[in-house]
Amino acid sequence: MSVAIVGGGLAGLCAYATLRHGGLEPDEIAVFGDRADPAESWASRARAIRQRRMRSESDGHVAATSFPGLAVRAAWRELSVGPLARSVCNHYRPTVDDFLEHAAEVRERSGWDTSIVQHRVERVRAVDGGFELNGRERFAHVLLALGHPGLALPPELDGDARVVHAYEPHEYADEVEIVGAGMAAATEWLNALEAGASVTSVRRRDPLRRPLNLPRPLFTRRGLAPFHRTSHDERVGLLRSFSAPSHPPGRAWDEPLRTPRFRIAPEVNGAQQIICATGFRRGFAEDPLLRRLAAEHELETADRWIVLAPDSSVPGLTDDARTLALAGVHAQWAFPAGDTLAGAKYAARGFLRRVEPCRTR
Ligand SMILES: Cc1cc2nc3c(=O)[nH]c(=O)nc-3n(C[C@H](O)[C@H](O)[C@H](O)COP(=O)(O)OP(=O)(O)OC[C@H]3O[C@@H](n4cnc5c(N)ncnc54)[C@H](O)[C@@H]3O)c2cc1C
Repeated sequence: MSVAIVGGGLAGLCAYATLRHGGLEPDEIAVFGDRADPAESWASRARAIRQRRMRSESDGHVAATSFPGLAVRAAWRELSVGPLARSVCNHYRPTVDDFLEHAAEVRERSGWDTSIVQHRVERVRAVDGGFELNGRERFAHVLLALGHPGLALPPELDGDARVVHAYEPHEYADEVEIVGAGMAAATEWLNALEAGASVTSVRRRDPLRRPLNLPRPLFTRRGLAPFHRTSHDERVGLLRSFSAPSHPPGRAWDEPLRTPRFRIAPEVNGAQQIICATGFRRGFAEDPLLRRLAAEHELETADRWIVLAPDSSVPGLTDDARTLALAGVHAQWAFPAGDTLAGAKYAARGFLRRVEPCRTR
């Protein structure tokens, strides 16, 4: 066995499907994860905020090839060209149920369950010709798809009994303060209003409005080229600016807020319940495995990012014979929308391009 994926979530599944499509057999790939179901951690968060539709479009899936996307799937099922027509205008948003059904199919069809090793990896160390995981197994090529290092709460609210994180299961009190202004916060404003609550949106700045979580050109090769040419300082500045909260434009988001039960305030102020839609802890140093890896191998870092090559590999630890690459949120240095399904695909394809020549050599 020569290839390991560390992290058994959606980015791990996408990489696994891509490697399988590239010709690797299940017994050539080990996936180290702490649960068998690759969609479980994502689905529990989506369930907590009662997300019904994806923010991503037809190509927001985990299969190896972009085509056929989720719109084609829906068109077949509904025997209608409607999803395809909406997809052409970038207006098709798959339902969460469709997406999860598709992810379950990819899991089943790819042989994922035969490769998953339910085991947490604490340490990755470079050795001759590859990498040693947990001081035992050795692999020539390793993709780290670790996901986010944990939920973030504003320090001033830590320990407050009224607080629940938006990504944890919850109902709604009669008076709710919702901290944050991104996609999860916007979803929660509507949920709480629909449940009959009075809602205060607690935020220091107004959210940006855009359909995807980053400007569309950053999902394209042409848009990425200038990003990859930036200096370290410029790139850190860009990545920081990209983390500003945003949610899609449109009446469906705005109309329900036109009610006296919705107001905006700069700080929390005594509601029965405080929902923190404040996302995740940020940066490689928050993840114990990455922090240790970066320290032990003196990896180049910039601010909260590990510096990566454009294909998401770690330059000092990757050559013709071995690969260490990152996927997901920690791969933003190579692909700013790393924490999306498009980002998972980008890292997966870069990884396969590194692995393939070594197999045929
Ligand atoms: C509510 C919500 C809605 C979203 N909606 C969309 C959307 O519509 N479209 C879109 O493109 N993106 C969306 N995203 C973003 C993105 O698709 C997800 O964040 C995605 O889950 C990222 O996958 P991942 O594998 O990097 O992380 P995860 O799915 O979190 O998986 C990482 C896995 O690795 C495991 N792990 C971590 N460290 C180790 C270790 N050391 N050893 C072994 N296992 C480890 C973790 O336990 C976890 O199971 C959404 C995100 C959220 C939270």
